[in-house]
Amino acid sequence: MKTITLIPGDGIGYEVTSSLQKVITAADVKIDWEIINAGEDAYKATGQFIPTSLLESISKNKIVFKGPITTPIGSGFRSINVTLRQKYNTYANIRPIKSIPGIKTPFQNVDLVIVRENSEDLYCGIEHLVTEGVAESIKIITEKASLRIAESAFQYAKTHGRKKVTAVHKANIMKISDGLFLECVRKIAKKYPEIYYEEVIVDNMCMQLVMHPENYDVLVLPNLYGDIISDLGAGLVGGLGLVPGANIGENIAIFEAVHGSAPSIAGLNMANPTACILSATMMLDYIGEQSAASLIRQATAYVIQEGKYTTQDIGGTATTTEMTEAICRYIKG
Ligand code: NAD
Repeated sequence: MKTITLIPGDGIGYEVTSSLQKVITAADVKIDWEIINAGEDAYKATGQFIPTSLLESISKNKIVFKGPITTPIGSGFRSINVTLRQKYNTYANIRPIKSIPGIKTPFQNVDLVIVRENSEDLYCGIEHLVTEGVAESIKIITEKASLRIAESAFQYAKTHGRKKVTAVHKANIMKISDGLFLECVRKIAKKYPEIYYEEVIVDNMCMQLVMHPENYDVLVLPNLYGDIISDLGAGLVGGLGLVPGANIGENIAIFEAVHGSAPSIAGLNMANPTACILSATMMLDYIGEQSAASLIRQATAYVIQEGKYTTQDIGGTATTTEMTEAICRYIKG
């Protein structure tokens, strides 16, 4: 039996992570969950935002499922999400964004994968007041991290039968930092002549994605643009309740949905569990449980398309629990 660290998180975190546990149990995959929280709720309970026992558990188990964690805006503690990604060097953030039959949006046939650099850029958190009224934030782009994320994007494209990689940048303005990022991606692209490579400036990319999302395949981006384009991508396919994600490092992987802790719907049994459940299928693929992962994806797709037990964000009236139970029923046949 695999032991996996589970961080329920804040806000809707408990509701959606409990859904994925139920679904995995229904698919008959035995996981020994080590449940240790981090974030606001953990601080209230233990006095630590990231308890030492959690760090020990992650170092030992190497596979983590993380619910969303609240980060105060403008002041307060540093993002626990960013801290964990940096501490465990989970440098590649993979976010598949695919149209789901049964979800009505203005966009059809979206099938993108966002490969976001996860360890540097403006998320290094190096910022200070230079003088009263003047703030400075430092953007770090390194050759090492850019080559590594480019390799991840092309490897992903190759192993998943994808045809094209698009590097997204702002090197027309940030000629040195984004220029270095592009130089690195070009270097890696040469190793994969069978995969078409192109570059698009990030502002144009936003427009292209809401006009012709079907034209894009794998996108590789530095951290900040990747974060923003991920939410844009989620909007294309029906919202944040639907989009899964994984943070992959050399030997530690942290799986989590793209969405945050959604405080306004926390505790109301309204959150859509799909994003967490689909993130869990990425985790099952990663640990070699591909057939359970595929059954869970099929069950989730069925429940969404049938539309009888879906949550409000995608036009239904079901609770988180009812949607989860419908997915479990399908899995159990
Ligand atoms: P959010 O993703 O929590 O919410 C944005 C909107 O999407 C809200 O309207 C919310 O109700 C809706 N939404 C999100 N997930 C949903 C779901 N599963 N089902 C139905 N609707 C859903 O983003 P936010 O409001 O910008 O951030 C709230 C908090 O979450 C902040 O503290 C932020 O820092 C944190 N956050 C954490 C993560 C993470 O842990 N990886 C990611 C993003 C934001």
